[in-house]
Amino acid sequence: MNAEQFSENGRKMVEYIRTYLEEIRERKVVHDVVPGYMQELLPSEAPMEPEDFSEIFKDIDNIIMPGVTHWHSPRFHGYFAAGNSYPSILGDMLSDAIGCIGFSWATSPACTELEVITTDWLGSMIGLPEDFLHRSPGRGGGVIQTTASETVLLCLLAARTRAVEKYRQIYSHLDEMEIMSKLVGYTSDQSNSSVGRSGLLGAVRMRKLEADTNFCLTGEILRAAMAEDKAKGLIPFFLCATLGTTGTCAFDKLDELGPICKENDMWLHIDAAYAGSAFVCPEFRHFMKGVEFADTFSINPHKWMLVNFDLSVMWIKDSSLLVDAFNVDPIYLRHENAGKGAPDYRHWQIPLGRRFRSLKLWFMLRSYGITGVQAYIRKHVSLAKEFEQLVLADSRFEVVADVVMGLVCFRLKGSNSLTEQLLQEILKDGRIYLIPAIVHNVYTLRLAICAERTNSDDIAFSFAVIKTCADAIMKDSKTPESTRQAITQQTRYVGLD
Ligand SMILES: *Cc1c(COP(=O)(O)O)cnc(C)c1O
Repeated sequence: MNAEQFSENGRKMVEYIRTYLEEIRERKVVHDVVPGYMQELLPSEAPMEPEDFSEIFKDIDNIIMPGVTHWHSPRFHGYFAAGNSYPSILGDMLSDAIGCIGFSWATSPACTELEVITTDWLGSMIGLPEDFLHRSPGRGGGVIQTTASETVLLCLLAARTRAVEKYRQIYSHLDEMEIMSKLVGYTSDQSNSSVGRSGLLGAVRMRKLEADTNFCLTGEILRAAMAEDKAKGLIPFFLCATLGTTGTCAFDKLDELGPICKENDMWLHIDAAYAGSAFVCPEFRHFMKGVEFADTFSINPHKWMLVNFDLSVMWIKDSSLLVDAFNVDPIYLRHENAGKGAPDYRHWQIPLGRRFRSLKLWFMLRSYGITGVQAYIRKHVSLAKEFEQLVLADSRFEVVADVVMGLVCFRLKGSNSLTEQLLQEILKDGRIYLIPAIVHNVYTLRLAICAERTNSDDIAFSFAVIKTCADAIMKDSKTPESTRQAITQQTRYVGLD
């Protein structure tokens, strides 16, 4: 493709993207394809001779789109919002063109410096204490990671290193491995599955504590577990608290958990992957009470802040705990400006290479402004409230958890199998998409407000579909419960995680 053709095809692609996003509502939100569908449509080897881009372009509609789930459709209510916006897409285009691998300041100073500035902007926007920011006198600062799950692993590994070093001084008869085998980390049974997985990857015990009846982890629950473990000779070293759990968007009691972590010199990581974006609105910041006790804090602008995947931000109060824990410094990576106020971000993450991700964040923040982001969050929250009202107005339904952000957890009153059957019916209908969660043995449906352009009519539409599906299964309610259970056990559903 020469430069001329790039311009022409580029314009065509931008138009295609624009039409795709503007008319996405008209598309069926979930695909109809079966596994392996694409093998029938594509040859088994790459083409020997070059093909014209117009041929490739045609196959977007013929081959790709039939197998796409339209995450940015207002009819898509699965998981959590996935961020997207025109400025963010443009930012990624430029990042692709620059194509630097910004592992140190010297490899492209703009890549590091824009990240320092935008993570400070963002931290300040959501009300993080100053000592998490680069501009503070200490060793704090933000860094862009690929995902919140990678951040959890990184923090756990840094916490493990810190604990092993400390306890080797205290228990001088134990070696590193023996100390590691005594460490125990905590999280709630409502935290993201990636937290448990980090424990496995990091080869340390990770206890999932049963959250209270509001699905929150409290100080009392943590204290009881720690007392048990200490009595067994274990060493508590890490807590991953969640602000906005994946299942029901519950908030752990940070103001109770924080002081316990401090007293016991435990690393406190706060996973606010989804709900953290809402703290740009001061009215939600009460959920962050106790954040000053945290060592690390993370949010996903690629979830609920208009930036397309992948862009997850982590802040740390003392970056030397990362840099010293994982520092290898071969000569080919050194440069003479190292350590002069511009971080070498390779020490702050697991991979070596890194993309120029801050461009898309910068484009988005400047295009929307803080007020634009606030308006977007508030609109989603108010749409969730509208949906909640529709659910509550139909006496067959109940709402399972407080609706505070853009998520509503609801179910049909009665047995779990009834709601499972409702979901089967909704997925069969195919006009909208949602997924279930099982929280403390209660089967619930999650309706997340996801698309930027979702409006009240979309919410009314989604509820109308749900109602029709409920009518359909209730009509069959003469079917005995035992038969219904047998039916739903045979059908598979797509769950969280
Ligand atoms: C979505 C989610 C994650 C995982 O986010 P990734 O960036 O995809 O790793 C982690 N924690 C919570 C609370 C989430 O909602």
